[in-house]
Amino acid sequence: MKITDVQASVIGRPEPHSGGSVWTFVRVYTDEGIVGTGECNSAGPFTSGFATKETVLKLKELLIGQDPLRIGPLYETMRRRARYAGGSQAPTIFAITGIENALYDIAGKAMGVPVHRLLGGKFRDEIRLYADCHAGETHTPSAYAAKALEVLEEGYSALKFDVDQVSPGKKDPFNWTVSAQEMSHIISLVQGTREAIGYEVDLAIDCHGQFDMGSAITLARALEGLRLMWLEEPVPAENIDALAQVRAATSTLICTGENQYTRFDFRELLEKRAVDVIMPDLAKAGGIMEGKRIAEMADVYYVPIAPHNVSSPLGMMAACHVCASVPNFLVLEFHGREIPWWEDLCEGDKPFICNGRMVVSDRPGIGVELNDKVAKSLLWNGDRYFD
Ligand code: MG
Repeated sequence: MKITDVQASVIGRPEPHSGGSVWTFVRVYTDEGIVGTGECNSAGPFTSGFATKETVLKLKELLIGQDPLRIGPLYETMRRRARYAGGSQAPTIFAITGIENALYDIAGKAMGVPVHRLLGGKFRDEIRLYADCHAGETHTPSAYAAKALEVLEEGYSALKFDVDQVSPGKKDPFNWTVSAQEMSHIISLVQGTREAIGYEVDLAIDCHGQFDMGSAITLARALEGLRLMWLEEPVPAENIDALAQVRAATSTLICTGENQYTRFDFRELLEKRAVDVIMPDLAKAGGIMEGKRIAEMADVYYVPIAPHNVSSPLGMMAACHVCASVPNFLVLEFHGREIPWWEDLCEGDKPFICNGRMVVSDRPGIGVELNDKVAKSLLWNGDRYFD
């Protein structure tokens, strides 16, 4: 089998509280008629959707005529060729991720097996999800509690709320120092949420890397009694030593990783003891096998993975194959609750999400396909559909 063509399309529409909802999809075509589709998280429509597509089309010259089942050598060829052009950074690694996913889709289809079989088999049939929650513009403990209870009605056993930029107590839009008023407000939001949901539900809190060192440590210590599933990106992701300093100062569990790429970034997080939980985004961190490598490296440190996920059903199912195939999977993010067309964009075993879980597909390949009609209606900014 030989690769005959590689195409990409930018598809989606920005929706509130969606984490992006515009993605670059990759299709790899073969001379045997098997077509693989992969998804790249493009970090939203305003940054790199078309830059990712352009990179995919540049990488095509390395792939045409090659055997699509030689995924490891092809991945490493793309990664090494791109090293001197920021290969482990966006958009290059996003593009490589989408291509790698499409190659796994082809491999599964060619062999008649789901991707998790290619990764060594399933530890679990269903992937436990946490719902990313937004209480709207009303940042009060009662609004957070009400939103949490509303989402729990759908069957979730884990939730996440954001606590950055939630208070009028912010004194300066650029510094990352949390005022006393804002700190008290943030703590009241988390306490109110925990009181409403109890301890049977896991609760994560995301700071989006918006706090300075002192504020991050103060917040992490103040939340210790609330037994968070994790506190996410308490300081910006660029300085791993700073993150390690926060972790060393608190018993609150620290998580980061949605802005780290490939096993090399995660090696630093783990070696510097900067995290209790890692959250690679499997639609941009390097690919399906790279995700498994990262998870297995974390397992050596007894660190679980809780992947960041703002993908369509296709990218999310690709992530589920990784989550199913490693022992140290904790929980997977779901950010599509409020995207009205999220489920319609793809074909597969529906509903994709049920009772806060996603069943790992046993169809050949990734097991989810774009619905061409819906996808064409959602082409972003005049893009063409895979041609
Ligand atoms: Mg986050």
